[in-house]
Formats: sequence, structure tokens, C-alpha cells
Amino acid sequence: MTYTSLESSHQVQYPYSLRIAHLYGNLMNTYGDNGNILMLKYVAEKLGAHVTVDIVSLKDRFDPDTYDIAFFGGGQDFEQTIVSEDLPDKKEDLDRFIQEDKVMLAICGGFQLLGQYYIEASGKRIEGLGIMGHYTLNQVNNRYIGDIKIHNEEFDETYYGFENHQGRTILAEDEKPLGKVVYGNGNNKEDGGEGVYYKNVFGSYFHGPILSRNANLAYRLVSTALKNKYGKDLSLPAYEEILSLEQPEEYADVKSKAE
Ligand code: GLN
Repeated sequence: MTYTSLESSHQVQYPYSLRIAHLYGNLMNTYGDNGNILMLKYVAEKLGAHVTVDIVSLKDRFDPDTYDIAFFGGGQDFEQTIVSEDLPDKKEDLDRFIQEDKVMLAICGGFQLLGQYYIEASGKRIEGLGIMGHYTLNQVNNRYIGDIKIHNEEFDETYYGFENHQGRTILAEDEKPLGKVVYGNGNNKEDGGEGVYYKNVFGSYFHGPILSRNANLAYRLVSTALKNKYGKDLSLPAYEEILSLEQPEEYADVKSKAE
């Protein structure tokens, strides 16, 4: 049964509201990925939205009309196997959610499972949702671990993170990467891309968690969800007004600093 794991205070009068589905939040939550939920809530409240977060897990129905944002975190191969068996029941609803341009953030294992299939470290193939075209191969006795920096030219934004995955993801023709790798491995160490940006699905291998380290991306996700719900012309405070983190480049860029 779905249950609410987090909710904004009812003491505050927020003009808007957002409901977030935390997909398999009790199983897929490696390396502090849950921090993304905290960041979504923080930014949404700053933008005037009351937030409710529901855990939608095994055997639960995911109702695409109920949710404004879906978050699908990373997981170990064991949990991914369990989750993959439940995915067919949610495929139609998740597909509609994505096709209707709703906002989704998928990290690592979650990103892999939106695609066609994932080959575990053991070589076993598990099926993904098959909603998006990418697929993930394995690698023998190796993982991509370390700091990573990417740049998204379309948004002219830079994102920082920490990757830890064995899977090597290959994007489909209709999928763009979330960014070009500046340093780090990215999806597969070969094509120079990291993550995926498809409709309003943002997929990435970044732990960290990605949104806490990249408030610009958190702002993008929440403002997109609010405009989806309240209209394109909704006027919202600018990023600089609510998140004046003004993080010095050398602070964010841990790798260059260490070198
Ligand atoms: N189990 C997957 C891999 O190793 C995903 C890891 C993760 O979500 N951190 O590639």
C-alpha cells in the first residue's frame, strides 16, 4: 500500500501543491539518493508549493494523474532484480506519465530500469520497463567509481556528482545525454555522454545526491513540474532569488581542487 513518507507543514499557507511519487523508495535508495527528495521538497517550498511524498513500491498502483514528479533512485543488483519483476504492472501508467511530459528523476539503478534491460555484474539479464530506448551492459570485475562533472549545452548548466556503477549504458537515437562528460566515466566511458534527458525525464548516474549538489537542476525540475500543473505562464521567483547559493567554482569542483 502506498504511504506518505514526508509532507510539508500544514501551518504554512502555500499557494501551490506538488505530489511526489518515490518509486520503490524502500528498496532503491543507495548512497543517500533519498536526499533528492529532501531537496525537491526544499526547493518546492521556496517556490510556494506544499509537498507530499508517497512511497509507491511493490504491488502498489502508480497513478499518473495523482503525481506531479516521480523519483526513482539507485539500487544494488539484488534490489533491482526484485523491482524488475514488479515493473510490468506499472509500465502502462509510467509510460503515460512520461509521455504527458511529467517530471521524473531517475538515478543509477532507476535510470537503468527505465530502459530496455540491464545486465547485472553476474551476467544475468534483467528486464527494464522498456519505456525508453537505452540499455545497460555489464563489465567484468570493474565499476566506474569517482567524481564526475558534466556540462549540458542546451541549458548551459554544469552538474557535479559522484558515480558508482558497474553498468555501461548505451542511449537510443531518440535520447539525449543529460550532459557531456568533462571528467569522469559517464554512461559507458566511450561516447562522452552522461545520463539521459528525454521529454521531462532526467536520468543520471550521479549520487551525491545530484539535486543537493546541483541546485540549478533541482530548480529546473520543480519549476517545470509547477508550470506543467499551473500553466506555462506561471510566474515564479528566479533561481537566484530563492537559491542564492553562489557556490564558488573551486568549492563545487572537488576533483580539480584535489589535483
Ligand atoms: N546496480 C547497478 C550498477 O551497479 C546500479 C548501481 C546504483 O544504483 N548505484 O550499475
